[in-house]
Amino acid sequence: MEDLKLAVINKENKRTVIDINGIQIGKDFAVIAGPCSVETEEQTIKTALAVKTAGADMLRGGAFKPRTSPYAFQGLGEAGLKILGKARKETGMPIVTEVVDARDVSMVIEYADVIQIGSRNMQNFPLLKEAGRTKKPILLKRGMHSTLSEWLNCAEYILAEGNPNVILCERGIRTFETYTRNTLDLSIIPAAKEITHLPIFADPSHGTGKLSLIEPMTYASVFAGADGIMLEVHIEPEKAMSDADQQLNPNDFAKIMSKIKKLRQSYDSIVGRPAAGVE
Ligand code: PEP
Ligand code: MN
Repeated sequence: MEDLKLAVINKENKRTVIDINGIQIGKDFAVIAGPCSVETEEQTIKTALAVKTAGADMLRGGAFKPRTSPYAFQGLGEAGLKILGKARKETGMPIVTEVVDARDVSMVIEYADVIQIGSRNMQNFPLLKEAGRTKKPILLKRGMHSTLSEWLNCAEYILAEGNPNVILCERGIRTFETYTRNTLDLSIIPAAKEITHLPIFADPSHGTGKLSLIEPMTYASVFAGADGIMLEVHIEPEKAMSDADQQLNPNDFAKIMSKIKKLRQSYDSIVGRPAAGVE
């Protein structure tokens, strides 16, 4: 990690806290929830209202989808961003949405409160630089094949362009295991916290790809010290146009939400966590 300058913990051990519409990311535990993809206005707004009622802090939803097959649904593009804008207006929730192309950054920042850079684009250096030239908070997901050092160097690309607002997100890595979609690497959370002052989230939806595993891995993420969780929720998961196998319905999400914040309080009082402070 000797190449890192800005992403590493400094002598004062100050941790980055990012204010997103009053939510202090890095200090307040936060939950980002919403559909994998923005499909229709109705699906997005209904899901947004459901996750808000359950206690989510931010709404997620992809308008630009990085899909394995070129024939799979690629997202609604700007029309999807407009729907997210309406959801934001209706619910007051900040929006987290992905950008996959450096040329779209200026458009996406018009609608997003947090720009997501996905696993497949973690090392898309022109995209990282473009995101670094904005002041928007960036949720940088871990490449599914990337080491901690490679990941933090990607954060460094954004920081080096003058944007200090980077949130890391562990979303599972490729291992030999095939029962799960990915292996959620929870040890990377305390490992990252030994090296970097940046907040780190966990995404048990992509990290497991299996509905039954999302709840236990969410609780485990809290106790691994995650600063927040990202979960996929769909009003009708079986009809989802992407990631139908891993999206929670609003009832199951509400059940998990009712426990997360209590677990976080127990984590704080039993385990404690590194001191937070604005950089
Ligand atoms: C997503 O969060 O919508 C997504 C595509 O995740 P990942 O980049 O982790 O696969
Ligand atoms: Mn997804």
